[in-house]
Parts: sequence; C-alpha cells; structure tokens
Amino acid sequence: MPRSIRLLPILALFCSGALTALAQVPDYARDPHQAIDESYTAAIHKYTTEPEFNSPLTDYLPASKSVPTPAKVLGDVSGAPNMLPYAEDVYKYFRELAAASPRVRVVTIGHTEEGREMIAVAVADESLLAHQKENDERLAKLADPRTLDMDDSKAAPLIAESTPVYYITGTIHSPETGAPTALMELAYRLAVDDSPYIQYIRSHVITLITPVVEVDGRDRMVDIYRWHKANPDKTYPHLLYWGHYVAHDNNRDAMTMNLALTRNVLNTYIGWHAQVLHDLHESVPFLYDNTVGDEPYNSWIDPILTNEWQMLGWSNVQAMAKLNMPGVFTHGDFDTWSPGYLMFLAAMHNGISRLYETFGNGGADTVERVLTPDEYARTWYKPNPPLPKVLWSQRDNNNYEETALLTTLSYFAQNSKLFLNNYYLKSKRSILKPTQNGPAAYVLSADNPSPSRQAMLLRVLHDQHIEVQQTTAPVTVQLPLKPKSSDDAKSSNDDQEATKGSRAEGASARAVSTFPAGSYVIRMDQPYSRIADALLDRQFWSPEDPQKHPYDDTGWSLGPLFGVDTARILDTAILKAPMHLVVDPTAPSSAASLSGDTFLIENHADPSLITLRYQLPNATVTATDAAMTAGGHSYPAGTWIVRGISGGDLEKAAAPLHLHAVAASDAPSVVAHPVSAPRIALMHTWLDTQPEGWWRLALDNLHLPYTYISTQTVAAESDLRSKYDVILFAPVGRGSQLILNGIPMWGNAMPWQKSDLTPNLGGIDSTPDIRPGLGEAGLTHLRAFIQQGGLFIASQDAAEFAIDTGLAPGVSVAPRGDVKVVGSILNTALVSKKNASLSPVLAGYVAAPAVYSEEGLSFNVSNLLTGDGRLRAEAKTPRPTGRGGPDDPDVPQDRSFAEPPSLPKAKPWEPMPLTVEQTRNNPFLIPEQDRPQVLLRYADSKDLLVAGLLDHGDALAERAAVVAAHLGSGTTLLFAINPLYRGETIGSYALVTNAILSYQPPK
Ligand SMILES: [Zn+2]
Repeated sequence: MPRSIRLLPILALFCSGALTALAQVPDYARDPHQAIDESYTAAIHKYTTEPEFNSPLTDYLPASKSVPTPAKVLGDVSGAPNMLPYAEDVYKYFRELAAASPRVRVVTIGHTEEGREMIAVAVADESLLAHQKENDERLAKLADPRTLDMDDSKAAPLIAESTPVYYITGTIHSPETGAPTALMELAYRLAVDDSPYIQYIRSHVITLITPVVEVDGRDRMVDIYRWHKANPDKTYPHLLYWGHYVAHDNNRDAMTMNLALTRNVLNTYIGWHAQVLHDLHESVPFLYDNTVGDEPYNSWIDPILTNEWQMLGWSNVQAMAKLNMPGVFTHGDFDTWSPGYLMFLAAMHNGISRLYETFGNGGADTVERVLTPDEYARTWYKPNPPLPKVLWSQRDNNNYEETALLTTLSYFAQNSKLFLNNYYLKSKRSILKPTQNGPAAYVLSADNPSPSRQAMLLRVLHDQHIEVQQTTAPVTVQLPLKPKSSDDAKSSNDDQEATKGSRAEGASARAVSTFPAGSYVIRMDQPYSRIADALLDRQFWSPEDPQKHPYDDTGWSLGPLFGVDTARILDTAILKAPMHLVVDPTAPSSAASLSGDTFLIENHADPSLITLRYQLPNATVTATDAAMTAGGHSYPAGTWIVRGISGGDLEKAAAPLHLHAVAASDAPSVVAHPVSAPRIALMHTWLDTQPEGWWRLALDNLHLPYTYISTQTVAAESDLRSKYDVILFAPVGRGSQLILNGIPMWGNAMPWQKSDLTPNLGGIDSTPDIRPGLGEAGLTHLRAFIQQGGLFIASQDAAEFAIDTGLAPGVSVAPRGDVKVVGSILNTALVSKKNASLSPVLAGYVAAPAVYSEEGLSFNVSNLLTGDGRLRAEAKTPRPTGRGGPDDPDVPQDRSFAEPPSLPKAKPWEPMPLTVEQTRNNPFLIPEQDRPQVLLRYADSKDLLVAGLLDHGDALAERAAVVAAHLGSGTTLLFAINPLYRGETIGSYALVTNAILSYQPPK
C-alpha cells in the first residue's frame, strides 16, 4: 500500500496522458496529404476476399519516393496468393528498407542449428533510433532497480525520458506462414505512413521485429509449398522437421532453452530491455488474441502482469470491434499455466507476454474454409463470431495480423509511460521477493553427488539470465519444521527397492541445514527471480480445477527432473552469507593432475559418462558390480575403473564434463563388467519427427556417434545386426498401425529430398516417398536384430508397438483405469533382481529418478506369453455366501474341510506366480531366463506425484515403468515414460545411456 501511494505522484507527473488515453484511443485517420501507392493498394483489394476482412489501417499503402515497398523484393504485395518468400528474401527486403529509411535498423541476433541467420528489425522515429543507446541505458536501469537503490524517485525521470520496446516475433511455427509478409508491410507502414496515428506509434514505441523465428523450418516450408505449386494436383507432404530438431515443440523450449531460437530471442528481448514479447501464430478463425486466454494462470507471475493482459487483450478486441472485423476474441481455452512458450520468456522476465492466433491456410493458397459449429458460435466473448464458411486468403490473414498489431501498438504507445512504470515495478517486486512472498533463495549444494547433472541445471539458469552466486564459507539456515506424519516415520527402504521424493525431504524434519562453501545460491532478490522460482518450485494442478483440458504439461519441476537437489530456502539469513557472483556457472573447475595407470570415476547416473566413454575409444573401462572401498573412500556399485589411458588424457576429457576421476592406489579387487561403446542407430518414422527430435538433440548434446535411420531403412536392411548393436525408437505419437503401415499408398508418391525446387529438404534424412512404413519386412528385420543379440529401446507408443508386434514377450500395456496424468512428473522405485542386485541399467541410481509421464502409461508383466489377465481375475475371486466372516473359509458341511491352496498374490509390478497346474504342458510358458524383468516401477500411491496433475493415481501406483523383455539372444527395453523429453528429463537420461553402455554381445 505505501508503495503505490508513493507512486501516484509519478503517474500524475508522467502518465497523465496515459490515463486519459486509457479511456480513449484516437480513431484512425489517413493523412490526406500523403499519396497512396495505387497499384499496391489495388492488389490489396484484389486479394482480400471480403471487404470486412480489411480495415482502414490496411486497405491502402502509403506511397514513398525513396522507400521500397515489399513488392520490390516479393514481386507482388504482402499476402499475395501463391507466394511464400524464403527467409533470405524477407531479410533482403528489411535490409533494403533499412538502407532507404533512417527509421529502420536491422541487426543479426544469432544463427540456427543449421547456420541460418536470425535478425531483429527496429522501427521508430529517426531521433529515437539515433539515441537508442542512451534509451537502452535508461531501460537497463529500470530493468534492474538495484542500480537505482530501489528508489522510485530515481526511476521516475528515467520513465519520463524513455521509450519502451515492443518486440514482435513471427512464424516460429513453420506451417503458420503469414507473419513474415505481414511484418514486412507493417514495418513499411510504421516507417512511411504520415497519419497522426502511425506517427504517434513510431515516436512513442520502438517496434522490434524478428520476422522469422524458426528459420530452418521456414525454408523447408517454402520448399514444400513450391513443390505443391509445381504439382498442383498431387498430395504434398506435411512438414516434417520444422527446425533441425523439433516441430511444434519449438514453442515449448522456453524453460530449458535447448534450441538456438529460444536463446537468440531471449538474448534479444533482454539485450534490448523490451517490455513486450508478442509471438504470432495461426490456427483458429479469425483472430484469437490469447493474451487473456483462460485459467489457470501461471502461479509465479506478478499480479500486475495479469492485469496488463486484460488491458491489452480487451482493448485490442475493442479496437477491432470498432473496425467491425468479425471473429476477434481474447478469452479462449488457452491456459497460461506452463512457462514453456516462447512469448512467456517476457512474462517470466518482468515484461508482458502476448500471442495471436490468426487464421492461416498453411501456405498461400486462397481456399474455401468450412468452420465447425464451436468455431462460429456466438458467445459472450465472441459477439461478432467468425463466419461459418469463407473463402480465405493469405492477404486476409495479413490484414488481420497488421490491423491488430497496429491498433495494439497505438494503445501501447498511448500508455507507454504506464507500461514502463509497470516494467520498473515488476522488476522491483521481483527483487523484493524474499521479503514479500519468498522464498529467499534456492541452494544447489557443493556436496551434490553429481556435479555433471548439477552443471546441466546451472546451464539452464545461466541461459535464462538468472544470476548464480557461490558461497565462500559454510552457511547454516533454519528450515521450516514439517508436521511429522506417520508416512514420514515409515522407512521407505527394504531389500527390494528405494524411493525418492517428498518423503526424503521430510523424513528427518531437520531444524537447520548447513551447506558447504562452494554451494550455488540462486538469490531471489534479483530481477529475474520469478523464472528461477517457477522452474525450481513444485507445481500442483488440482484434479478439481475447472479447466479440464490442460494446454500442455502440468508439471516441470527441474530439480527432480534433473535429479539435482535444489533446496528451497525461506530463511533470509541465506542472503547474508558470504558469496560472489559466478560469471559462468557451467565452467568446469580446474583439473587436478592425475598420475598412475588405474583410475576410478564414481557413477551417479551421469549422462555425461557415455560422452566420456565414446571419447576414450582405446581405454579399457569396466564398472564394478558391488560397492567397494579404495584409498579410504567408499565407491558405490557401478563405479568405473579406467585403464589404458594416461591420467592427463583422462582428466582432459573428464573435466569439461564435470566428471571427477581419481587415481586408484591399488588395483580394485571387486568384480566388474565391461563398459562398451556399442554401435547405435536411432530409428525414426516418416509420420512425425518431433519426439525423436528431442532424442536426437539428447544424443547430439552428449556427442554420441549414431546412425540416423528410418523405418524404411530397416525395411530395406535384412542384416541390421551386422551394422548396429543398439537401435533406439523414440515415441511417435501415432500408434502401432501407422508405424507398421505408414501413410496409405493410394495417391501419389510424396518425396522428401533435395531438388532444384526443394533445396532445403533432405538434409537430415531423405526418401523418394514418405508413405511406406516399417512394413512386414521391416518388422521381420527388427525381430531378427533382437533375436541375434541386439538391444532395442522403445518408449511410450513405440514401446506399445514393440508389445503389439511380439517383440516383448510377457509384457502388456496395463489397463489405465480412470487415472489422469497430463504431462506430470512422477516418482518411481528401483526394482532389483531376486539376488538383490540392480540391473546395470540402474547403475548410479542410489534413489530412483523422478520421471516424465505423458498420460500415465504403465506395463503388466507375466510369466506367460498370454499374460496374467485370467490369473489376476482368479486371485480376486471373492468368497461365496456361507458361514463365517468375509475372511473365513467357506466350509462345506458333513465332510472334512479341504484346505484350498492359497491363491497367487503379486505386487502390481510383478508377474503372478504360477501354480503347477498352470505350468503343466503349457506352450505359452516363457522359459525362466527369458521372462521380462521389471527395472523401475512407479512409486506407491502416496508418493507418486512430484509435480503436475495426478488423479486416481491408485490405478498407476506401483506398476511397471521400465521393463527389459527378452527375445532370442537380445533385449527389448521398454519405457512407459519418456526418458529423453524436451531436454528436461536429465535425471532419467542415464536409464538410456546406462542401457547402451551395458550392452554386451551375446556369448
Ligand atoms: Zn503456432
């Protein structure tokens, strides 16, 4: 309260115009003295299919004697039919525009994975651009109020003098094709149009534009469109490989920032100290400004932002309503829970996130579009709904995009001081987090057992521009006392399993905690505390939430997902501990010199170990089968023993991976098994390349050598075993039938390869026809590969495919019951073999990892090829009506009681034990050594949820999550979870890398 009172004079001084503007934005009027470009204007009218799909802001183009219009580069107007420019042509236009106008500047903001350039274009009055550096210095201070001593009176003059930056990004989703041409024309209008309305925008806002966010995907999309135009009667392939790695998910990378485009956009947003990040998409008719969206809203944002969303969203709808453009709305079914969207980078960095969905045709064809009843229904938030059936053009789409952006830029310009003041306030309140709502900090302890996984998490925080500090002395903090529950008291460990999670936190109910010197501290009294808190906190999505269709994942807690302890500290004493800012928290500590000929490296389920293995092809590496002691230090099972390499060479390879090698004083005597570096193939389909793209990214980030093959390659290769030891099959998301059969063979071939028409296709993989699937031949080859000793690893629906096609004897998909999981993080438990040893797949896992479950898949295992269904039903047979209680035996009268043999019992993850009767002369009985082995199961019901939505978890609790099935001499390793997901599941990566490293050729 006192703070807002203090701010009132500031608003009165500098925002008086803004406050009146809130009530009234001036209507648009063209400058009567400025000539229009007649031919360009005529083309706009020609390509707009109905007058109501245009507005007075875009139904003409002002003429300029010196500044080129988009037609100069495009050969036609923006949004013209049958024309999609490559990114290079879009850039060419912006550079010609910048060369001709002092109101336009173009900068390179980075490159994509495939080396294509990304740009940003600034448009504003020449005087603003000439003094952009000074403006930016002021904005930088508002972005970090610590530089102003948190003093509002020092911020006020800066707000008064500064111009905000409104950052617009186009075509992150490559099949959503309209934004680049709309943004070309928008920049021209902002630079050239002399109407007071436009002049006001360019003198009060710096409009920053990245016309193409997904440049690799844009160029491939243009290729596809060119092929379509050259083959007008043929079916053309849908766009595979948008970016180098992923498709639609490039808009889910804003948490872990694995893609170049995410890092480049955030660096630009932060580097320019922008106040808004507004991302352009295309899907629903005709303009869904999902700035307002629907609940639940993200829990970590500043309430100021939620109000800014309402102001911007509803004012935009109001402006469009005045222009009578149908189908514009801002409330809709998009929830703003997950911070994974590109635009949300702004929401999490003290700005404003916005997103438009306009109506696109997936190319530049003008076509009839038939809407669904829910799309054209009139509702309270859509009083002027879209029309049920329309002829729709790319120009229509461009009109909507430009009109909406111009009206919103006008509103933002009219209220620029208010939004700058809010920007300052949000930054300040982020710094006040420890004393307002907490926490004070997160601590990543220096004694973390896995510095390599910890470094991977620090990399994420670093890329998010979060300040990381490191303590120089031990620090002790108070912990909140947890109420001791009976669950806490119960030991979780028996011989068979160990679980991790909430119980581990509460078990000892410590009053204080001490972190050693060198621990990393993520202070919450910093400008970007919100994103740190959002990433490291836990999430809970209530099963009772009114929103029944979460738009994306409901949980993402990065500490558990990375398997890294991130202590959430409320005690502000942590902030007084001696510490210093770490410039690059991912930099490896300096390497100690190693001498000797035998070295030990502890295994803490570090994915980096596989990188090291492939970097040391000539070294001999074994892993211990049991714990041991050497040099007074105890080493867990799975510890690596490395020989055949010099200490210097080992240290050179290990240090950058944050792996710690020590020289063994004497040769360890414990039993060990070889750690191999097998030949890996990653198999993809031509149906969808996205989930496998995240797997590809994981393998590339780990610098693994692998061969990238398709199901068609497998269909053509009769002897897979001679080439590969391990084949990985990521989730496909399309089910077994399509994996096997592919796309129907009626119609024409659909090539995916480089040609004169399509120079950007085929770089990752190519085929003359994407339609054929794995087929019977491919399945036969895959089966032979496993039978001959290969290791086949499959996840989610790819695992279901392996089950459906007989590649995983004894494993079936468990009935889901009424369990509800939507992209949640769940706890697991390790399952050991009968002799209590763990599989090498679980090496390094002292506690079981928290895992990502998309929708609650789990497995049943059986000793019978035909499954346990009937046996489980028998075990559940209730006693009949009769004497005694429900647990008493039924006793027939007038004969001696015959004790029935006890019915089989098994835990949910175990196969049912078989009676003699069931095994006798049973051809479906799987030989003992070939029975499936459960390695990882879901945790008990009460411990199952880590983060996100879980409803009716009993149906999933304790069921098998990772199973090794056996076929011939080989193994099919099945994951009900996705272990390599969006670069987020670092803690479960080692389940895959361990499996690869433990591959052994059959004897
Ligand atoms: Zn989209």
